[in-house]
Amino acid sequence: MSQTHRITVAKGDGIGPEIMDATLKVLEAAQAPLTYDYITIGKAVYESGYTAGITPEDWETLRRNKVFLKAPITTPQGSGYKSLNVTIRKSLGLYSNVRACQSFAPMVRTKHPKMDVVVVRENEEDLYAGIEHRQTTDVFQCLKLVSIPGTRKIIRYAFEYAKAYGRKKVTCMVKDNIMKVTDGLYSRLFEEIKQDYPDIESELRIIDIGAALLADRPEDFDVIVTLNLYGDIISDIAAQISGSVGLGGSANIGREHAMFEAVHGSAPDIAGQNAGNPSGLMMAAVQMLLHLGAHEAAQKIHNAWLRTLEDGLHTGDLYQEGQSQSKVGTREFAEAVIERLGQEPARFKPVKYAEGDKRNIEIPEYERPAAEKVLVGSDLFVDDPTISADDLGAKLQALAGPEFKLKMITNRGVKVFPDGLPETFCTDHWRCRFVHAENTKDVSQMKPVEKGALLKLMQRMHEGDVDVVKTENLYYFDGQLGFSLGQGE
Ligand code: NAD
Repeated sequence: MSQTHRITVAKGDGIGPEIMDATLKVLEAAQAPLTYDYITIGKAVYESGYTAGITPEDWETLRRNKVFLKAPITTPQGSGYKSLNVTIRKSLGLYSNVRACQSFAPMVRTKHPKMDVVVVRENEEDLYAGIEHRQTTDVFQCLKLVSIPGTRKIIRYAFEYAKAYGRKKVTCMVKDNIMKVTDGLYSRLFEEIKQDYPDIESELRIIDIGAALLADRPEDFDVIVTLNLYGDIISDIAAQISGSVGLGGSANIGREHAMFEAVHGSAPDIAGQNAGNPSGLMMAAVQMLLHLGAHEAAQKIHNAWLRTLEDGLHTGDLYQEGQSQSKVGTREFAEAVIERLGQEPARFKPVKYAEGDKRNIEIPEYERPAAEKVLVGSDLFVDDPTISADDLGAKLQALAGPEFKLKMITNRGVKVFPDGLPETFCTDHWRCRFVHAENTKDVSQMKPVEKGALLKLMQRMHEGDVDVVKTENLYYFDGQLGFSLGQGE
């Protein structure tokens, strides 16, 4: 038997305690090499004054044990409470969210009987950084942050996952035709990293058509890697069309820590009725056992679970008259899995996990390369609810001084000065691009500007009664543009 691992367990809220008890019973019966530290998280903890949903002592237990099996929790309504999941993912560096979405037809009703998709979602960055501002009366902003180390890690993780689990293809989904800098980084690094995995097929898809194809022909996909927001959406689509959100397990993996949970929430509508399907949490526990290298218990539980589904013992969410054998409760489902430990499914393909097969994927440390950074201008964001584009252009040109020229003004990304169209609707939020006074049109030959000169420009704006709400500097990195061009620039 493999070494014993001490893990942290939280029973959560709603159906959490019932599905966790069912899962722990199965783990015990399968002689999974685990010991547990129990912590309390969720509603009661939030309401006793801990706005993060966890006490400092329990947080220390989580950090010490490094592996966490978590039941769903109920986050109370109200702006004062922080999502515990987001806190755990970000604070413990759980950069990769892995959701396996497989169909189990005909036992579980689905239009896509051949689907077997794994979504690898970036977990720490993108629009989920949660940095939002209202900048003017009209306009609100959310920052989309995408980093080179974050992108490298998740793309390499997806390929390593495909390798470790014998998968054939990795599809990267982005919107790089629109977001050329952020999503463009994904496609660029995907093209680079795929070279290290010549045996795995790779494809790049635009997220809109990619999501449409996934919903229509999920059997064409294998592993999908994508940014946080897109991954959140497409993993729910994939789970839903596979038959039931109640079946899916989810792994949140970091360099040192990992958290395993069901895809679904705390299902308060059926709590305390012995009615919840414990499958999602059981499958998360299987992912956890593989992560720990406990292949024997993982294989035993996974096959017994497949056998139980196949034998038609179904909780209420899966039960179909004429197809299911009998409707069972949470506890009875767990007992049925326990009875089948050691058996394999006959109709579904049994799983085989090899000895010593530690599927704990390790990604090399990021080494930041030296980059030459040159300041070539600045975008000043101006709040003005009454002015026209041409009048603002004339006013700012007069304030540009000897060092700068106003290259253009855009409103929500569309160029409105010079040569804007009268039809373009304008808000009170103007992006005004200042560059070196002697620049030509060629954006690859922009002249450097001084930071001190930019400060003087800001001073002139202030004196000219221009309300600058934000500035964003323009840089070349190693001679390459570090910013997008305005439409029509
Ligand atoms: P939910 O997933 O809890 O429930 C949606 C529907 O699916 C309900 O009708 C529920 O009865 C059913 N359902 C869910 N899981 C089931 C299972 N295992 N077996 C049978 N039926 C199941 O989503 P919700 O209602 O939007 O959220 C309820 C609470 O859960 C909210 O407080 C939410 O914040 C929380 N939540 C927590 C997590 C988490 O802890 N990871 C994730 C999502 C939602």
